[in-house]
Amino acid sequence: MSAPLSPGFVNGEVSFWYRSSGVPAPGERLDGDTRADVAVVGAGYTGLWTAYYLKKADPSLRVVVLEKEFAGFGASGRNGGWLTGALAGSPERYAKTHGADGARRLQRAMFESIDEVIRVAAEEGIDADIVKGGLLTVARGTAQALRLREELAGQREWGWGPEDVRLLSGDEMDDRLRVAGAVAATWTPHCARIQPAKLARGLAAAVRNLGVDVYEGTPVTSIAPGRAVTPYGTVRADHVLRCTEGFTAGIDGHHRDWLPMNSSLIVTEPLPPEVWDEIGWRGRELLGDMAHYYMYAQRTADDRIAFGGRGRPYLYGSRIDERGHTHAWTVDALWDLLVAFFPAVARSRVAHAWSGVLGVPRDWCSAVHLDPATGLGWAGGYTGHGVTTTNLAGRTLRDLVLRRDTGLTRMPWVDRRVRAWEPEPLRWLGVHSMYRLYRLADARESAGMTRTSVLARIADRITGH
Ligand SMILES: Cc1cc2nc3c(=O)[nH]c(=O)nc-3n(C[C@H](O)[C@H](O)[C@H](O)COP(=O)(O)OP(=O)(O)OC[C@H]3O[C@@H](n4cnc5c(N)ncnc54)[C@H](O)[C@@H]3O)c2cc1C
Repeated sequence: MSAPLSPGFVNGEVSFWYRSSGVPAPGERLDGDTRADVAVVGAGYTGLWTAYYLKKADPSLRVVVLEKEFAGFGASGRNGGWLTGALAGSPERYAKTHGADGARRLQRAMFESIDEVIRVAAEEGIDADIVKGGLLTVARGTAQALRLREELAGQREWGWGPEDVRLLSGDEMDDRLRVAGAVAATWTPHCARIQPAKLARGLAAAVRNLGVDVYEGTPVTSIAPGRAVTPYGTVRADHVLRCTEGFTAGIDGHHRDWLPMNSSLIVTEPLPPEVWDEIGWRGRELLGDMAHYYMYAQRTADDRIAFGGRGRPYLYGSRIDERGHTHAWTVDALWDLLVAFFPAVARSRVAHAWSGVLGVPRDWCSAVHLDPATGLGWAGGYTGHGVTTTNLAGRTLRDLVLRRDTGLTRMPWVDRRVRAWEPEPLRWLGVHSMYRLYRLADARESAGMTRTSVLARIADRITGH
């Protein structure tokens, strides 16, 4: 069905999260060569958290952040606002190098990072509409319910106790949120709703207050030991940290490190009280499902629903559609799914649609790295779980730069190495067949299949998901 669009519908323009404040114009750019202790490339959450913790740890450090557009232009200003405790990728893979204990430590660190973000936001006066209402994961249909139970069993194995996640009874679910067709649900307290752009812009202001130079409108054209080169000057620094996640494929020498995966969202108009009476959602929980082509949603501070999913997952050659324009069929598909979840929303319209890119490594697990010999470092590959993970990454990069041997620098994701993605056309074919198979598997499951479709398992195999 064609999605009904509001008269003031906006497509792209970075994201809805900038709609009330206006899309920021890039601020002061670099003007000539300069010298720093640490040069950070990219002013998303990773770069900003890293600059924040470095400067807090040692105020005498000169930290420079170089951003090609404006702070929060990338995924950090566009995401679904899940400040989630979920690990990027499977714990088994982190356990391979550091044992089950290592993977469990990383999981605990993720949980703690949620509260750390909330703590810093409060301390720095960043109002990012944060509500820690937890995460509801619903299963729509028997196959999804089976997967939900399997996921729960897996979480128990990796250290999630009953206080970390539990199945909800039908009444408990009904009391929180009424999703059409939901047959089972879990709830975890380890998730908070945020307004992504407010967090990114607030963090940028906080690091500037600490004395970090954040240069915007300043693209880095090459990164080498001791220097980050831009058209407006070169920053010479002992450490150069690449914090460009989904944009990394555009940096020389890193074309196949991480796949730039698209994700898209739509947001409704503000919904009237009678629609909320039908839906519930008083606790502002985040909402996800167990489909292979999964969705994610939040109730916004101004009472809309922001509803996201995969859309057009990948553009040939790792191209990036920079300003977030979203294809009509993606808007329609997200709208159809939203209305299937919440029939009462059919009376509303789509106010804004946008997209962004996140970084996916070949094994779908994130990593932090610093080479002490060259001073080059990076963090990313959060595969859609970056809102919390970037905070952990920032504190870890701080310790690595300051040569501190801490619990953070001994986490299993530090110095993980994964192989590059295949060259084209294999990369495109692999990702597209994976998502085609996921769609088919979802269709079969919603037609009544009671187990996970074998097509989904084949898809997982193809791309090592
Ligand atoms: C639509 C969408 C929804 C998502 N939803 C969630 C969610 O709900 N929860 C969750 O945990 N994660 C989510 N994610 C993922 C999460 O947002 C990201 O993993 C996280 O924001 C990455 O932060 P970052 O700072 O590493 O990268 P980014 O925020 O992408 O920042 C990278 C920055 O580098 C800049 N840059 C790139 N190249 C250069 C260059 N050559 N020179 C200078 N600057 C450069 C870019 O302009 C950008 O500002 C989502 C992602 C998307 C796209």
